[in-house]
Amino acid sequence: MASSLRITRKQRQEMDKTELFNDAEGMDVVGPTTPVPLDLGDVILKLHPGDGVPPPDGVTTGTSGVSERPSTSGWSETEPYILGLGSDQETNPRFSVGTSGMVTPGTAFPPFDPRFSFTSTLGTIEDYNLPIDKDRKKRVVVLGSGDFGLALITRLVHANYSVVVASRNPNRTRERVTAAGGIIMTQAEALQQSNLVILAIPFPHVSSLPLSALRSKILIDVSNRDPKTYNSTERSQAEHLQALVPSATVVKAFNVLSAYSLSKGIRGSKEVPVCSDDNLARLLVCGIVKDLGLEPLDRGSLRNAREVEGIPFIFFREWKFAFIVSIIIWFIAFFIILFEWQLCNNLRNLHKPNGTFDWSSFDNVAKSNLSISCSSTAITLLAICYLPGVIAAYVQLARGTKYSEFPRWLNRWLKARKQLGLLMLFNAFIHVLCQLSDSGGYGLGHSSYNWRRPTFIACGILAFTMAGVLGLASLPSVGTSMTWREFSFLQSRLGWFTLLLAAFHIIFNVWDGLVTPNFTCYIPSISQFVIVMPVLTLVLKLPLLLPCVDNALTRIRQGFERIPTPPSV
Ligand code: NAP
Repeated sequence: MASSLRITRKQRQEMDKTELFNDAEGMDVVGPTTPVPLDLGDVILKLHPGDGVPPPDGVTTGTSGVSERPSTSGWSETEPYILGLGSDQETNPRFSVGTSGMVTPGTAFPPFDPRFSFTSTLGTIEDYNLPIDKDRKKRVVVLGSGDFGLALITRLVHANYSVVVASRNPNRTRERVTAAGGIIMTQAEALQQSNLVILAIPFPHVSSLPLSALRSKILIDVSNRDPKTYNSTERSQAEHLQALVPSATVVKAFNVLSAYSLSKGIRGSKEVPVCSDDNLARLLVCGIVKDLGLEPLDRGSLRNAREVEGIPFIFFREWKFAFIVSIIIWFIAFFIILFEWQLCNNLRNLHKPNGTFDWSSFDNVAKSNLSISCSSTAITLLAICYLPGVIAAYVQLARGTKYSEFPRWLNRWLKARKQLGLLMLFNAFIHVLCQLSDSGGYGLGHSSYNWRRPTFIACGILAFTMAGVLGLASLPSVGTSMTWREFSFLQSRLGWFTLLLAAFHIIFNVWDGLVTPNFTCYIPSISQFVIVMPVLTLVLKLPLLLPCVDNALTRIRQGFERIPTPPSV
């Protein structure tokens, strides 16, 4: 497209002011019928598909998974799409559309359906144009040939990028860089090769770089903070870099990965938070992250780098809730057992004439009390894993939709199920080991056993084995090897069966204590405490199994709404 066809900066500012070209209806839009190439001068806008608008052929629908609700058209509501506005005439603009990522002139985008709305101008293509090699590879510069730099080079080369490495001393690392597929040059030479530079050097050395050569470039800052001095309220290293080179566009990314996992294959989370004050630079880096087989997480402005730089130091944050819950349950169970088995009778005896305190009742605290506290915690946690799903089902039934947010406490509880389940397994394991080491142990209470003893033991063994299978299936490496149906069969059907068996394990063991409740010491016995959550969860689940309720719930989960949400205007 000739430069005379460009939208001027003033026109762009006018567009920004209006914020929203509302669904383009008022405009005389010509949707091209054949793919059109974006060209220099084309303006990049952020696109919002309207409800009911099908994605144009060839446009990948969003897979970000941030929003659980797909729009009617199947487009992700959160995935940023780039709209190229051909700028030939204001009265007859040309549109084309593409997914986020690299925006290079000449890219053919599929036809654009005019029923879209879009907000904010992101820039023009030439502002963000990356050089492309003769063989059509996008070229980036990696500054630094250390561990992280080399890991990035390997990954970028695999993703078909052309990588130029900027080194203080190219001869020293030439062999390793070449083996990884990169081309090594001096810093001055390399920095002329692309306007996208990944800074893979320790942050304290940034000021020793030739900063003038970094001007007006997109700088990806991968640096991590020193954990000893990290403070989330202080300015991030990325913001410092932006202040050092004000004309550059700094993007924070990749710092949450390690050099090892980048080069050997990511085992944990593939999420890569990306933040920058420049929308298009952020989208562009999100595209690179995707190209590397990772999942970009748009974290907004560069200020958020303060939190992003703290991510590598997070210590068991997702486990906090589950851990606290399990500790509370464990201590409640422990004190109930201590009171019931060691303190209650002794305290009663003390009130009798010549009554003595029998210290020998404490002999077995370390093993019996530990074992039963762990088993009580395990079964309560197992029930607690399934209870929030049941509550969520009732909430959805009551509201008649799956599209309304659950209360925060329920959301948090639902998200902690995996951790609760693994802590359940941990407690069950300790219980099993204690019981194995005490072959003459009776478990809870001292009931007269007949057929109930072998049945209680069999239920326990089966419940423990199945809990082990559930734990294994929750491992990402195992879970990802299953189909959705296999996974949901294990976590749902097998999980409920495990809970049922565990409840029978308890019921057969504490039957006497249940049928003749004993409140002699004014608090419930451990038999009564341990059965509450499993029975409550199972009883609440039963109505959901009725065909009429099950059908209503299935419809809601398929997206039907009792009171349909009005279409957005
Ligand atoms: P490294 O092994 O120490 O390598 C640093 C490289 O920076 C050197 O090989 C050197 O390459 C270059 N450099 C440029 N100027 C320098 C100077 N004045 N002094 C020393 N080195 C200079 O560090 P790294 O582990 O690759 O980490 C690089 C960056 O990635 C750091 O900011 C780090 O926080 C971040 N990061 C690392 C990891 C990881 O797992 N290692 C993970 C996440 C983030 P030349 O000799 O070729 O110039």
